[in-house]
This record gives sequence, C-alpha cells and structure tokens, in this order.
Amino acid sequence: MTNNNYNFIAGEWIAGASEVANINPSDLSDIIGMYAQADRSQLDRALDAARSAQIEWAKVGLEKRYNALMNIGNELIANCEALGTLLAREEGKTQPEGKGEVYRAGQFFTYYAAEVLRQMGENTESTRDGIEVDVRREPVGVVAIISPWNFPTATAAWKIAPALAFGNAVIWKPANIVPASAVALTRIIEKQDLPKGLFNLVMGSGSHLGQQLIESPMVNAISFTGSVPVGREIAKTAVGNFTKLQLEMGSKNALAVMDDANLDTAIACALGGAFGSTGQKCTASSRLVVHESIHDEFVDRLVAGAEAMVVGHALEAGTQIGPVASEVQLTQNLANIELAKREGGEHRCGGERVERATEGYFMTPAVFTGTSNDWQVNREELFSPMACVIKVSSYEEALSTVNDTRFGLTAGIITTNLARATHFRRNAKTGCVMVNLPTAGTDYHVPFGGRGESSYGSREQGSYAKEFYTHVKTSYISSGLPE
Ligand code: NAP
Ligand code: MG
Repeated sequence: MTNNNYNFIAGEWIAGASEVANINPSDLSDIIGMYAQADRSQLDRALDAARSAQIEWAKVGLEKRYNALMNIGNELIANCEALGTLLAREEGKTQPEGKGEVYRAGQFFTYYAAEVLRQMGENTESTRDGIEVDVRREPVGVVAIISPWNFPTATAAWKIAPALAFGNAVIWKPANIVPASAVALTRIIEKQDLPKGLFNLVMGSGSHLGQQLIESPMVNAISFTGSVPVGREIAKTAVGNFTKLQLEMGSKNALAVMDDANLDTAIACALGGAFGSTGQKCTASSRLVVHESIHDEFVDRLVAGAEAMVVGHALEAGTQIGPVASEVQLTQNLANIELAKREGGEHRCGGERVERATEGYFMTPAVFTGTSNDWQVNREELFSPMACVIKVSSYEEALSTVNDTRFGLTAGIITTNLARATHFRRNAKTGCVMVNLPTAGTDYHVPFGGRGESSYGSREQGSYAKEFYTHVKTSYISSGLPE
C-alpha cells in the first residue's frame, strides 16, 4: 500500500488535510493506497497560484506549450501498460480497457500539442475606410476540471490538454474513488517545465471540495463530466457567477437493429455497446430497439453472447467484464434489475451478483426483452451491464423510439439499407450517430457531445474545444495617418 496523501498545489506535493482509502473493486482486501483530501485553504492556495501562473503561461511562446503537451502525451503512450493496469486495479475496467484508455489519453495530449501550433487568428478589412480588424483568441483564465470515475484518465485528458494548449491554468478535481490514476497523470504533467501552479490536483469529495471549487469567483470556466443532477446544480451556480460552463452528462443511448441488418454486426455491436466497460459508459447502448422480423433470432444470439462473456477480476487475462466500480453502483444496478422485473420485462439472463476467487463487485450481464420505451428502465440512465430490448415493427417506429428520450448523446443503427442509414443519420436527435457500429467508441480529433440532458455548452474534443477554452477578442486598428 502506498501513501499518496498529497495534493499537487502551486507546483508542490502538499499533504492532505485528511485521507481516504482507495479500494480495488475486483478485490476488496486490496487497498491501493491512502489518498489526500484537500481542504478549503488548500483549494484557495491552488486558485491563487493558478491565477498568477496563468498570466505567465499566456506569455510563453507556443513551442514551449507544444513541447510540454507532446511530452505528456508520449509518456502516457509509452507507459500505457503500467498505467492501464493501475487504472484497471482501482476502477475495475479490464486491463486491456485500462491500457486503451491511457493510450487514448496520450493521444489527446499529442493531438492538442499539434493544435497549439494551429492557432490562427483572423484578419480583415473594416467596413470603414483605412481600418483593419483583427480577431484573435485569448485564454479564458483559470479552468476548473471535474471528472467522473468511469473514464478517469481519458476524460481528464480531453479537458486538461486543450485547457493548457490554449493558455489556461487548471484546477483538477477527479472523482474521489479513482485517485491513483489522477496522481499518476499529475506525476507526468509535473515533469514538464510549466509555471508553478499552472496545473493543480485537488482531491476531495464532490459535495464539499467540488462545490467549493465551482462556487469560487476565482474560477473563469468549469468543464464537468458526470451525472445530470450534479451537472444541473453546477449550472445554477455557474450561471449565478457568469462562469463559462461546459457539461457532459448522462444518456440513454439506443441501438436500432433493422430487419435488413447483418446479424453478426448487430450482435457484436450490441454486446460491446451494452456490456463493454461493465456498461459504465455514457455512450453505452442500454436500449436495443429491434425489428420484429429478426427479433427472436437476435435475442437468442444476444443472450448466448452475454452468457458466454467472462466476468471476473479486472487484471485477470481473459476477463471481458470487470467488476462494477463501487458498492453504491452495484446496489443501484441490482435495484434496476428488480425494477425491470417489476415493470414486466422478461428476464432472459444475468443481472446477478456472482462470487469469484477474490471478494469484489462482480455482476453478470443482463438482458431483458418485452420492454416498453415508456418504462423507467428505458427512461433513466442505468450505467450497468444491462440491456433492455424494445420490439418495433418498422424503421419509422425504430427511429421515433430511439429519439423518444430526454437525453441525446449517441444513437446507432444496424442496417444494410443505404436509404435508412442516410435517413437515420440525418434524423437521429443526438450529438453522435453510429452506422453499423456500437453506440460507444469515438475518435479524439473530432467533436464529442450530445443534446438534451446529455450536454450543455460548447463541444469538447477536436478543434471545437477552442470555443470553450478561449475568449474571442476583436480589435480595430487604424494607423492614424492618411492612407
Ligand atoms: P457524478 O456523481 O456526477 O460525479 C462527477 C464528478 O462531479 C465527480 O468528480 C464528483 O466528485 C463531482 N461532484 C459531485 N458533486 C459535486 C458538486 N456538488 N460540485 C462539484 N462537483 C461535484 O458522476 P459519476 O458517478 O462520477 O459518473 C457517472 C456519470 O458520468 C454518469 O451519469 C455518466 O453518464 C457520466 N459520464 C458522462 C460522460 C460524457 O461525456 N457525457 C462521460 C463519462 C461519464 P466525487 O465523485 O468525488 O463525489
Ligand atoms: Mg477504487
């Protein structure tokens, strides 16, 4: 067990005011370490340091920013095996999933390193004689980054990298059940030649430290990924302070499987989309909207596929579904299994807590059929290895079912019909659409985000991120001399 009772504040590792134990959900006897909890005064210190460091950073030439981000990205990629193992150990995703996430986090840094050098302003003539207009982007200032536990490294990376690339300072509050990967990423960032205080890691609970952070008038922008209720409260506070805000929240993504679908593709997409990362993805397909003519065959193969998936210790080779991340989440998942039964769903497989060699939060993947899109299990995000099949009798009914949700992150269709694929892509009311692909699985160089209760504010990732991490300034320039 390591003692990591330190936050990274103003360029120094500072002992926490208190500490929490980080427990491995695959093996509750494995305490990964004790981790620091920052208090109010430490947060204030980080905010002060960030303010001064940001002013310094904004003056630094672009090559230095480029180098720092490129180095961070390369180090994450080079160490993705070990860091992925640590992430899998503390969060419960399988080791290959953990490794993939760290690799992806590295790609966010190398991508935004390149973006540093692509920052171009615009210059034009005025509508008035002899005047020039210059439009440039400037940093927003101090950015509060609040990340969830399910993709602790990737989510943080897709926020930290553009924040630094566009000249901002960062206060990062990770989710409190995954502190080890936050410390690991910070140790890589720390090695770079950054002004002291430009990047700060403050750990602590969301309701205390997180709340203090988002309420601070020292914060110029808040980028949050997490649940809808927390996002809604953050929005109220941010608007009250006129703090720039970006929220990525939950969803209730649907995968439509048409009568003309290639069933091998459909099964692979449904199994991966519903059960990958133990269903704990904001892009997971918890609703499977299936055409009646292929429904029974699809369901038989889906159930057989789900039953064959290996549930086990995240670090064991061959495990396909790691444990649920926490006891709170497991309790909620099991309650949702009972809810689906009460609502009248036909329980086809899984949804049981199971024992393995070590004590952990293991749960088998569940499939329910005969469900209605009006039921609560099909209205609320589950964040669980649980899929509900909704039978439909036409493409039109499938599309309207997919869109009948208050969320709008991703939607998928499995079809070999070009007309339907095209129509679906244009009419799905989501930020991302997947054709013959799982609802989960996105790139790092293009925008990511949703509609409705899934997202608020400008898009994350790709070049679109600059909308959030910069202010636009328009200057009018006259020489004052006759032309
Ligand atoms: P959560 O409970 O909303 O927590 C997210 C983060 O907010 C954590 O760091 C949490 O800290 C912090 N927090 C909680 N209360 C706060 C407050 N009052 N003020 C400031 N910060 C506060 O969500 P989660 O359970 O970690 O993550 C699961 C959710 O994230 C799901 O709904 C999922 O869909 C969503 N998600 C969305 C995306 C996306 O891009 N759309 C990606 C991944 C996950 P503590 O945990 O330390 O309390
Ligand atoms: Mg843990």
